[in-house]
Amino acid sequence: DYYITGPLQRRRSAAITKDDLKLGKRLGSGGFGSVYKATLTNEDGSTTPVIVKKAKEFGEAEVWMNERMSRTAPASCAQFLGGFLDTPEQPQKVGPAGAAVGLGGECVWLVWLDEGEFTLYDLMTKREFPYNLEPLLLGRELRLQKDKRRRLVTLKLVTQQLLENLDTAHATGIVHRDIKPQNAILSVADRRLKLIDWGAAADLRLGINYVPNEYLLDPRYAPPQQYVMSRQTATPPPKPVAALLSPVLWQMEHPDKFDMYSVGILLLQMAFPNLRSDNSLIAFNRRLQELGWDLPAWKREVVRKHPRGLPKDLEEGFEVLEAEGGAGWDLACQLVSYNPSDRPTAGEALLHRWFEQMPVVAGAATP
Ligand code: ADP
Ligand code: MG
Repeated sequence: DYYITGPLQRRRSAAITKDDLKLGKRLGSGGFGSVYKATLTNEDGSTTPVIVKKAKEFGEAEVWMNERMSRTAPASCAQFLGGFLDTPEQPQKVGPAGAAVGLGGECVWLVWLDEGEFTLYDLMTKREFPYNLEPLLLGRELRLQKDKRRRLVTLKLVTQQLLENLDTAHATGIVHRDIKPQNAILSVADRRLKLIDWGAAADLRLGINYVPNEYLLDPRYAPPQQYVMSRQTATPPPKPVAALLSPVLWQMEHPDKFDMYSVGILLLQMAFPNLRSDNSLIAFNRRLQELGWDLPAWKREVVRKHPRGLPKDLEEGFEVLEAEGGAGWDLACQLVSYNPSDRPTAGEALLHRWFEQMPVVAGAATP
């Protein structure tokens, strides 16, 4: 085994090994590996709840992204404790037809602090959303009537934090490429939204993972172009050249706008309860495509379809986005623009007038 040590690893005199970890419940598993809850035994015998990913593919890239992010933007990502390469010691079991069975082969183990129980997806798919964000972001429930004003408080906060996370990632040259509610975790310790799952990310300054992997992308959240760079520039130049060239390419191609489209879809899902299920999101995306990514046209169509008033779910979404002079709606329209250059950068979005009036949360507690 060789070790890839994370920056926070330095607190330990030795790198984490397999022997320090006790795997628990499996949280998920996909084509690229499996994720487990686990317990890390520290040198003094104390234990820390952690999350372990055994990555069969792209593990090295994910370690790279986590190291870069935890150095330059520690508040924006889950706390990374390190990674190591695991090569199976036992001879692989061989099945009846001579094929290897079981996991077999090398995989990279990645270890993070367990940031908490809930992703944005877990919260969003519950009926109490977005009120269930309050204890996680504010430490308590707001003593306010459940109306659009109260929904606006946490919706703006969580969107602002998502944008701050992306602003720092993009400033480092990293595009996440898999922004979705499942990859945003509510950190209990930091009372803040953080981004996880950097396995599909691209580091454009250094050309790492630069070649677009179509099959890595989630079609529900990927922008119409689907590529970080246009096809013409898809082949990375040799590394030293890439380092010189990338800032220029960044200007020309707006690779960061890939993530910004996903933020737009996520914002719409948070606002409209009827866009939170998979099927309805897919249907919405299809309609948006047919309408040329013209969100106001989608609204006109929806209003025309319901001459006697909008259904509750649609009403709820428009109500919250159209509050404060329609600022939230305007931001959503910009984010899902077809042309990457029409979408704001994360930094520009943070300066949008929707964030001009941020809730004074302390005052909100006493109605
Ligand atoms: P996958 O490639 O399977 O999508 P992820 O990195 O997204 O892997 O992790 C899968 C799930 O594990 C997440 O959706 C989340 O529920 C949980 N998870 C991952 N990292 C953390 C973390 N640092 N703290 C708490 N939960 C986590
Ligand atoms: Mg994920």
